[in-house]
Amino acid sequence: MIAEGPCDGLTFVELAARLERDGVNPVHAAALFRHLHAGGAGEFEPPLKRWWEAKSAEIRTTMEVVKVTASADGWTSKRLLACGDGRQVEAVLMGFHGRLTACLSTQVGCAMGCVFCATGQMGFQRHLRPGEIVAQARVLSEVARARGQRIRNLVMMGMGEPLHNYDATMQALAVMTDTRGMNVGPGRVTISTVGHVPGIRKLARERAPYSLAVSLHAASDEERQALIPVNRRWPLAELLDACREYEAHKGRLFIAWTLVDGVNDSPDHARRLAELLRGLDVHINLIPLNPTTGFNGGTSRAARQSEFQKTLREAGFPVTFRQARGLDVAAGCGQLAAG
Ligand code: SAH
Ligand code: SF4
Repeated sequence: MIAEGPCDGLTFVELAARLERDGVNPVHAAALFRHLHAGGAGEFEPPLKRWWEAKSAEIRTTMEVVKVTASADGWTSKRLLACGDGRQVEAVLMGFHGRLTACLSTQVGCAMGCVFCATGQMGFQRHLRPGEIVAQARVLSEVARARGQRIRNLVMMGMGEPLHNYDATMQALAVMTDTRGMNVGPGRVTISTVGHVPGIRKLARERAPYSLAVSLHAASDEERQALIPVNRRWPLAELLDACREYEAHKGRLFIAWTLVDGVNDSPDHARRLAELLRGLDVHINLIPLNPTTGFNGGTSRAARQSEFQKTLREAGFPVTFRQARGLDVAAGCGQLAAG
């Protein structure tokens, strides 16, 4: 079965099959795929040109830019995008010294309900389709191209839990990492997860070539449950076991830890985290809490943040702060919510 509808969520092979079904020689897939995912003039040879002219309205997924917000420092810009059904998601372009990273959404809202996260606070609306994930990257790629740059890194860290929408996320990544199109190196892709254990195990078994960031935020089940309700379903022991399985398949692993004042930012928390991670080859990313309307926790104080980092470093872990650019446009981690 070859799917009807937009073509931007199709892999190269699927796109070729779609052309063939429509009576166009699949040899033209390369030009079409390049046009869809890497810009290019779209000057097609006659058979493809005829097909394109007949179908162009339905070939691409609609993602209309509703609003652009740029940060004062010029590094980050957030786009509010409307899907065909009017639901809205956000995609963020971050540039660190000309190396552009696109942060993409995988769902409208999120079902996981983490208490400090704006997306979690809005609840789950629906999964995004592969073409809707790819289309976000296309919109950002066009911005990059206009600046003479291209997207180097992809982080699945926007709205939603990517592993709760596993198949669409994997399909979109297969498209976006294809060298014939957008050509983002698989090693430059990071999937961030709340700790969706079945999804992590599946990534490990399928030997997905991507990096994985696990949002941990607490080192005991009791503390974690208070921040991340789904910890009840996938408790820490199981989560760490899944991380070990992922690591055994040589996947690069990051641990994300959002620092909340007085909740998880003491040296004792850092020591317990180090204990929990002992034996794992991980890089720890610290994220100072970004304010959201539905959570009254505060940002960890600077001295506590550096002490936390120091304690983990002394325990032998590489630890860095995740770049906090874009806070003035509410594009920081956990601040994405449409509307
Ligand atoms: N659902 C995935 C990816 C999207 S959230 C996940 O949870 O990992 C991306 C990151 O932002 C996660 O590490 C998440 O824990 C963090 N985050 C959420 N809300 C935040 C907030 N208010 N301040 C700082 N980080 C936050
Ligand atoms: Fe969903 Fe991630 Fe937000 Fe949790 S932190 S609610 S998993 S988007």
